[in-house]
Amino acid sequence: MADSDMLCTCDAAPGNQEHHHRELKPEPPILDNILQHIGNTPLVRLNKIAQAEGLQCELLAKCEFFNAGGSVKDRIAYRILEEAEAEGRIRPGFTIIEATSGNTGIGLALSCAVKGYKCIITLPEKMSQEKVDVLRALGAQIIRTPTEAAWDSPESHISVANRLHQEIPNSIILGQYTSPYNPVAHYDGTAEEILRACNNQVDMLVVGAGTGGTLSGTARKIKERCPECIVVGVDPVGSILAQPESLNQQTVACTMSRASATTSFPDTMDRSLVDQWIKITDKPSFTMARRLIREEGVLCGGSSGGAVWAAVEAARNLGPGKRVVTLLPDSVRNYMTRFLNDDWMKKRGFLDEEEERRKEVERN
Ligand code: PMP
Repeated sequence: MADSDMLCTCDAAPGNQEHHHRELKPEPPILDNILQHIGNTPLVRLNKIAQAEGLQCELLAKCEFFNAGGSVKDRIAYRILEEAEAEGRIRPGFTIIEATSGNTGIGLALSCAVKGYKCIITLPEKMSQEKVDVLRALGAQIIRTPTEAAWDSPESHISVANRLHQEIPNSIILGQYTSPYNPVAHYDGTAEEILRACNNQVDMLVVGAGTGGTLSGTARKIKERCPECIVVGVDPVGSILAQPESLNQQTVACTMSRASATTSFPDTMDRSLVDQWIKITDKPSFTMARRLIREEGVLCGGSSGGAVWAAVEAARNLGPGKRVVTLLPDSVRNYMTRFLNDDWMKKRGFLDEEEERRKEVERN
């Protein structure tokens, strides 16, 4: 019997819900469709940033924006959808509904476009126009909801998704905040890929959290194989995942905190796996994202900058021969009119004078 046929109730899934595991497969030379280009993302050494920051250890970045839909969320969207198909919970003609702040929606819309399902995405107004345009291009129907709506108010993207599900026959909400396959996709895939690439030597793992699926899934598998690995969770100011609670008291607005994560606590996040939390804010995150692009040629998004900034802070005391792995969730595609744009950065006081001076010199 194949691994994938056996039901399991291990703690890789929240609340030990029943789930299957899947073995890691190499990417075939010719893909049956673009969905086979999800997973097997590159792990890249960040040479210049590690050197400039005076790190003695090795700094590696898992570039999740190379997934077919451009983000880490392609993994969970594809996996949750396929498991629902296998369980007979989705049939041809079904409508897939999801409340998401963007990337999960793009991942689902991508899988739905290839597989021929209808897709409805509810998302808060604050999310970038770029994400909305990509969703539309993939054929998803989009419903935008007020950013300030509390998750349990009738106007929130979560409540609107629930209402649509009640109204539309043959519809389903796959539920990234509750599905066992959110963390399990990372336990089976992302973490396994990292461990193979690193010959099972990972001394520190630094991962951002929204639903916590990426962090919990990767941390659990990596700690099983590397029990000494220090797991660092990265949480934007304005979100409430970090511990101790006093870390969450800052009130500066941060564009990266997930609308839904600010008020409800996701089942998919297992905080017992996290040894240390680091809070991030916009300016250092965007500045680091720009450095990743300029110095390393890594075309990542803003929260990737936050993850690398946190990784540099956490890794300062690690000596030579140690290895830090961080994860870059999405690409600059989602933020072309935001942190990539000098005027947007200037208006918010995010552009370093030093960077401006350097650019001026380069221009002349
Ligand atoms: N997408 C983006 C753009 C993110 O910044 C993050 C976390 N920082 C994630 C996805 C990871 O999300 P999750 O915790 O839901 O796996």
